[in-house]
Order: sequence, then C-alpha cells, then structure tokens
Amino acid sequence: MAKINANLLKISRKYIFPVIEEKMQALKEREKNISIVNMGVGDICLPLAPTVAEALKAATDEMKLSPHGYGPAEGYSFLREKLAEEYGSVGISPDEIFITEGINTALCQMEELFSLEECVAISDPSYPVYFDSNVMVGRSNITLIPCKEENGFLPKPPKEKHFDMIYLCSPHNPTGVAMNRKQLKEWVDYARSHRAIIFFDAAYEAFITSEDVPRSIYEIEGAKEVALEFRSFSKGAGFTGLRLGYVTVPKQLSLSFENQSLALHKYWKMRQNTKTNGVSYPLQKAALACLSGEGKMETRSQVAHYQRQATKIKSSLQKMGFTCFGGIDSPYIWWKVPFGTSWEFFDYLLNTLKIVAIPGVGFGSSGEGYIRLSAFVTDHTAEQAITRLEGISCNTK
Ligand code: PLP
Repeated sequence: MAKINANLLKISRKYIFPVIEEKMQALKEREKNISIVNMGVGDICLPLAPTVAEALKAATDEMKLSPHGYGPAEGYSFLREKLAEEYGSVGISPDEIFITEGINTALCQMEELFSLEECVAISDPSYPVYFDSNVMVGRSNITLIPCKEENGFLPKPPKEKHFDMIYLCSPHNPTGVAMNRKQLKEWVDYARSHRAIIFFDAAYEAFITSEDVPRSIYEIEGAKEVALEFRSFSKGAGFTGLRLGYVTVPKQLSLSFENQSLALHKYWKMRQNTKTNGVSYPLQKAALACLSGEGKMETRSQVAHYQRQATKIKSSLQKMGFTCFGGIDSPYIWWKVPFGTSWEFFDYLLNTLKIVAIPGVGFGSSGEGYIRLSAFVTDHTAEQAITRLEGISCNTK
C-alpha cells in the first residue's frame, strides 16, 4: 500500500474556518428560519466592481474570436508591468513580479525552496496557513512568537535567537493591528544581520489608513535584500472567488548552498515554470482593470465601505464598554472577550445572539481570550450586529 506523508498526521488542530462553517450549518439545522449575522470567515460581501466584471467578460469574448492558450507561468507582461508601475519609487521591475492564483497557494509553494532544517518564526496568533503548511512539508523547527496586548499584538525580533524564515503579516490577521515603519525596520535589520528571509504577507494592504504604516515592506531600506512580498486581489478588489495575487521576488534575494550564494529568483522561476501553467487570461485582464482609473475608484469605494463598517462596529463596542483592537488599518476587530474563553464566548454569540465570529484561539494559543469580528459586511448586517450586541448584559462586561 502506498504510504502517506506522515507530516500530515502531525497537524493536531483542525483548520478553524471549516469548523466555524460546520457550527453555523448545525445551528441552521437546529433552528430553522433564524437570521444569522455572519462576521466570521472574512469573505467579501459586495459584488464584483462593474469595470472588473466587464473586463472579465470582454477577455472571455476575445477568447471566442481567437484562442488564448497557455500563458506565461509567471503571468502576462501587461499585468506585471502595470503592477511594477504601481510600486512607484520603491523600484520593482516587472520580472520580479509573479502572478499567482491568490497568495495562500503562493505562500505554501514558496516554502518548497527552503531547506527543511530552517528555523521558522511565526507570530501567535496568526493566519493558520503559515504554521500548518510548514508542518505539512516536514519542517519542525518552528518558533511561535506570542503577540499579546502587552506588546501591542506585534512580534518583536529576538535579541539572541536566530531565525531563517520569518512570517510577518501587516495589517495583521487576526488582530487587525499594523506595523509602523520603525517596527518593520527592526525586522528588516534583523533579517539582514541574520541573512534570513521575510515572508511579508500584505493581503490587507488596501485597508491601510495610518500614515506611518508602510504599504510595502520595500519602503524600508534594505528590504529588497531580505523580503518576499505577497499581495492579493482578494480583499482589496473582491477577488476571493476569482483567485489572483502575486509575489514579488527581488533579484537580490539569495539562499545558500554549501559555500555558494544562489539567487532565489532563479529557483522560484524554475519552480513556477515546472509546476504551474499560470493564471487564466481573463483573470489577469480583470486584475489589470482593477488598476485602471475607474477600477481603482470602484474597488477603493468597496474598501471604504468595509472600513466604515469596521469603524462603526468597533466604536459601538467601545461605547458599550468593551475592549477591542484593530479595525483601523484592517477589516478585523480583535475583541477581548467579556467572559469565558474564546470558544465559550463564541458559543454564546452563536447560540444566543446568532452572531458568527472566529474564536481567537483558533489562530493560536495566544489568541485565547479574544474573538475576531470581520467587517466584510453590509450596512444592514453591521446594524443588526450592533443591535444584538447591545443585548449583552452589562454585568458580563
Ligand atoms: N494571507 C492572509 C493573512 C489572509 O487573511 C488570507 C485570506 O484570508 C490570505 C493570505 C489568502 O489570500 P488569497 O485569497 O489571495 O489566497
């Protein structure tokens, strides 16, 4: 009998999002016709921007007239050139940009390029994919850096310890807080002195409003020597159901082999050419449309909508006397639970108020005591949520 990759058996926790989905479905089965306020998974709720939908359709129509077969594995140059232009003075060239089918996949694929012995640093709590995917490929030297209220929920580089691969997410999922220039520079400096590589997850870059929060890690001097940047169209342009993102791989990045220094870019390109056949032409045209004048206006207005919901929900919670964080540069609100554990409070919200959230502990043990609310909701859902939350008894706060 063929043998399983035994690393898969090392994943002890269940992936949080399907668990929440199951619990929501079970409630719907138990109590028919109830109205559930879903602030859980963090999926977009607005329809695709019209300019983007039209570009998608036009590209498909083009394919009716003449064939567009396999495209370049790294993405069409029309999109890579435009994305490089968007980086502006940061100075990224089109051939350093690789189009991918969202960044979840790209984050996991990139891990293949690194030796299994490498020491990995991941913040706790964090997007569960970083930890689980590294365990799945067989990496075991993983350090979780607790991110709690005392340290502003942000990881700090250690004084003594060495890491080779460092996962940073800013604005952060799930805590909703973002790193300022100084905080990010500390990590870039650490990575330069340790010759480590930063996996910078910028999935929520479109939500940044604070002046001192960099939109790209390359705004920090020296970052091109040490950082990969993963950017997604999912949350900023409503592409969760379309699937498109990109990873920026500066040519200066290198990995060692014996006494040699090897360009990561070369091996990533080789990996992509061998293992992918690229992202579809209509999707790349749709992504290009997001970057047109009209497309930017439409997608930015969607982001502004989610930002308004985040502000409204967070300020209502604070007025009710609750403690919460995030929601400024992010669509996520990190709410200190007023009673019980993350899971107990989750159960209370679900079963009593019929509100779906994500228990903080689902993102790592340091998330215990918190719950994540997603502001990817309509005005109506946000209002419903606020009205229901007002029903939480004062003596529970
Ligand atoms: N990174 C973070 C921090 C996320 O929260 C998500 C999705 O929720 C992703 C990556 C995945 O992005 P994509 O839809 O591009 O795969």
